[in-house]
Amino acid sequence: MINLREKKVRTIITKSKLPGADYTINPYTGCLHNCVYCYARFMKKFTNHLECWGSFVDIKINAPDLIPQNTAKYQGKVIFLSSVTDAYQPLERKYGLTRRILQKLIPLQPNLCLQTKSDLVLRDIDLLKQFKNCEVGLTITTVDDTLRKEIEPLASPVSNRIMALEKLQKAGIATYVFIGPILPFLTNWRKIVLKTKCFAKYFMFENLNIHGTIWLSVKNWLKIKHPQLLKSYEQIYFTPNDYWQKEARAIRNFCQPLVDYRIYFHH
Ligand code: SF4
Repeated sequence: MINLREKKVRTIITKSKLPGADYTINPYTGCLHNCVYCYARFMKKFTNHLECWGSFVDIKINAPDLIPQNTAKYQGKVIFLSSVTDAYQPLERKYGLTRRILQKLIPLQPNLCLQTKSDLVLRDIDLLKQFKNCEVGLTITTVDDTLRKEIEPLASPVSNRIMALEKLQKAGIATYVFIGPILPFLTNWRKIVLKTKCFAKYFMFENLNIHGTIWLSVKNWLKIKHPQLLKSYEQIYFTPNDYWQKEARAIRNFCQPLVDYRIYFHH
């Protein structure tokens, strides 16, 4: 059962600790994309939700009203949507909070950075074009849509995300591909780069992290869908090894002559 709750909040633009972002905006708490590896599940604790991650969303219905007008405070500052939800998750079709937030942000002219797993972002091309500095990233963790259904059940199919990149680029919007998290033995990042390099300005790579309750979720999924990989994952994460160093080296060797790239690996 999905628990949806409309909620009024007091603030919507928050200072960011993420590299490269000054502020973040999260129009929703919770995310129906329900990715098996979601790093944002720690939000349950902060928002007193007892339900499973992916089965609740708080809809911040007054979020657009909280964007201040007539201020130069955000001009040239990077505002990132979204850090702990997907601003284009399925509910956005009905609620349009992200769209109304963008409308309010245009006069403030921040450097806008959007990252999503949904082709719904195409709906807002007309608004995105009105930002002098705007980047849109599509997250792609696999080119295999069977695997995508396992790990990101309600996010857009991979082919739609690639099509979205192409359309955004044709509309003159800067695009990047976020390849992350890289799932050992499953994410074929070479294929992702080759399939999308014509539509992206640069690539970002991130490894799978298993802190907090993420490991429990990933482990349960592996047990059911890929039991033969469980031991290998345990070796990577719970014994000393250089798996991610080797992976980073392979990415550098592959990308150097081909595309602009950034690696964000945490061991
Ligand atoms: S799209 Fe992002 S926030 Fe939403 S479930 Fe997936 S990883 Fe979490």
